[in-house]
Amino acid sequence: MTDQPASPSRAAATPAAPRADVGVARPLPVGAVRLLPTGVLGAWQDRNAQATIPHCIDQLEAAGNLDNYRRLVGDIDPATPYRGFIFADSDVHKVIEAVAWEIGRSGTTAFDGWLDEVIDLLARAQEPDGYLMTAIQAGLRERWADLENAHELYVLGHMVQAAVALQRCAGRDDLLRVALRFVDLVDATFGPDGERVGICGHPEIETALVELYRETGEQRHLALAQHMIDLRGTGTLVAGGLGPQYFQDHEPVRQARTVAGHAVRQLYLAAGATDVYLETGEAELLDAMHDQWVDAHERKMYISGAFGSRHRDEAFGSAYELPSDRAYAETCATIADLHWSWRMFLADGGSRYGDVVEREIHNALAASLDAGGTRFFYANPLQSRPDKHSEESAPRERLPWYPCACCPPNIARAVAQMGAYVASVTDSEIAVHQFADADIDLPEALGSGTVRVRTRYPEDGVVEVTLDGTAPAGARLALRVPAWSTSTTVDGRAADPDPDGYLRVPLADGARLELDVAPRWTVAHPRVDAVRGCVALERGPLVYAIEQADMPDGVEVDDVRVHTDSPPRVTEDGVTVSAVAVPPPSALYATLGSTAPAPARPVTVTAIPFATWGNRTPGAMRVWLPTAD
Ligand SMILES: [Zn+2]
Repeated sequence: MTDQPASPSRAAATPAAPRADVGVARPLPVGAVRLLPTGVLGAWQDRNAQATIPHCIDQLEAAGNLDNYRRLVGDIDPATPYRGFIFADSDVHKVIEAVAWEIGRSGTTAFDGWLDEVIDLLARAQEPDGYLMTAIQAGLRERWADLENAHELYVLGHMVQAAVALQRCAGRDDLLRVALRFVDLVDATFGPDGERVGICGHPEIETALVELYRETGEQRHLALAQHMIDLRGTGTLVAGGLGPQYFQDHEPVRQARTVAGHAVRQLYLAAGATDVYLETGEAELLDAMHDQWVDAHERKMYISGAFGSRHRDEAFGSAYELPSDRAYAETCATIADLHWSWRMFLADGGSRYGDVVEREIHNALAASLDAGGTRFFYANPLQSRPDKHSEESAPRERLPWYPCACCPPNIARAVAQMGAYVASVTDSEIAVHQFADADIDLPEALGSGTVRVRTRYPEDGVVEVTLDGTAPAGARLALRVPAWSTSTTVDGRAADPDPDGYLRVPLADGARLELDVAPRWTVAHPRVDAVRGCVALERGPLVYAIEQADMPDGVEVDDVRVHTDSPPRVTEDGVTVSAVAVPPPSALYATLGSTAPAPARPVTVTAIPFATWGNRTPGAMRVWLPTAD
C-alpha cells in the first residue's frame, strides 16, 4: 500500500489495543477517559498541552531538528550543517506523537498548522525509495552501514508510532503514508524474506511495528516485528566495548530470564515482545516476559519507579545495585516501563502492574518535570549531595532541553496518552487502575453512560465512583487496591480485594473506596547495600524526600537521622518527621569505638513529595534517610 491512502483506522484511539483476543482486558480510547483538571492527572495533562508541548515545539526549532529536513529539501541553504545527535529526527516524531494524543484527548486544533508544515517537510525529505533519516541523508554514516549505533530503525519506530497515533486520534494519514513507504523499504531489506539480516542496536521499532499491524491489519507488519524479536540475541550485531548485552544481543529474547544492558533499550524491547504476545498468544514469549518483569521490578527498580543505576552504559546494574546518588534513572526508562507494564497488564491482569504504573506516574515521571512543565531531568537520582556538580545528562537542576533530547518529548507523549492507563474493560467489567478525577464513557457492552471518578487522591484516599447511566445486571466495577493500603473499606465496610488485587462491586451501584494513605516507613531489601540502615517515607503512592530548603537553621540534609517510632504527621507543607541532626565527624575512617558519639540535636523536619523537589533554591536532597533508632 505504497501509494494508496491507508485504510480507515480500525484500532481504538489508544495505545496498544490488540487485534487478537489473547489478553485479559482491553484499553479504552484516550478520548473516552477524560481526566478532569480538578484532579492531579488532568491538571498535568492541561499543563502538558499548554506548556510542555509548545515548549518542545519551540525547542525543536531552536535545536535545529527541523532545519535538518529543510536543508535537505532546499528550504534553507543546503550547506547548513546537520545539527544534533544522529537520532535527532526521533525528537520530532515524539513531539508529533504527543500532539496526536493531545488531539485524541481534547480534540484541540491548536497544533494543526504546525503538523501540516512538519509532515509536509518530512514527506518532501523522503527519498524516492522511501528512506528518511536526515542524519544519514546528511552523510553522517552510510545507509545501513552501522546498525549497531546509527539508530535508523529506532528512528523509523518513533515515526511509525507518531503516524499511527495521528491516524487513530486525528484521522489523518499523511504521516502514515510516509512511514509506510519507509517500512516497505525496511521489510524488503531486513524482513523475513529480505535481502539482508539485520536488527537495530536500539530496540523500539518492534513495539511500533505491532502498533502498525493493529492499524493496517497487514500480517507482514506483525511478521516483521516478530522477525526482529527472533533475531535479537543471536549475535547479528557487532558488540563494541560495552558488550552484546548493551543492546540485548547476548541472549535470545525467549531464553532471557533477567533484564540486562541499556535500560531504555531493554524496556522498549520487552514492550515490543509483549505486543507480539498480545497478537500471537505465544506462551513461551509471555513466560520469558514474566520472569524478566519480575527481575526488573523486584530486583532492579528504584523506589521512585526509575531504572538503570549505571551512567557508563545507561544500564541496569546487578540485582540490588541501586545507589541513590549515582542513580542514572533515565526518564525514558520509566516511560518505556510504563509501556511495558501496561501491556503486561493487558496480557495477564493483576494489580501489581497498576501498582508499578502508579509508582512511576506519581514519582519518577512527575519528578522529571518542574512545576511549570518546561524544565526537565534526564537522570533522576534519589539523592543530590550538597556539592553535586552537573554532568552531561545528570545536571544539578532541571534544564529546558538537552543535546540528547530523548526525554522531554517522551514525557510530553506519555502525559498526553496517560488516560489510556487509567481504566480498561472486559466483556463484563470496567476496571479503574489509577485514581484521579475522571469521566469515563462506558463501552456499549457494559451499558450506557459515564463512570464518574471523584477524588482528592493522592492527598486523601477516598475515591468515589458512580455510574451516571445504566448497566446490565452482572456488569461489575473493579477497583485496584494498591498493595500499600493496609486497611481498605468500600462504602464504610472493611473489604479485601480478590486474589488479583481488585475489589469488585456491581457497576450500577458504584462504590466509595477508602484507601489508607497514612504516612509509612519503607525499608529496602537487605541486599540493597546503598541504603542499608535507612528508611524511606511514603504516603499513598507518593515517595517523599527531604530537601535543604526545608531544613532548620544549621541542619544539613545528610546529617538528619529520623525517629521511626514517632508517627510522621501530615501538614499543609508536607509530612513532618521527628529526627535528630548529628554533626559529622572530621575523620573519614576511624577505629570502631574510638570516637565519642556526637551530640545529637532534636529537630523536626518536613519532607515533601519527591516529585516536587528542586523547585526552589538548588540544594541537597535525599529520599533514603538514616534512622536514629
Ligand atoms: Zn531519555
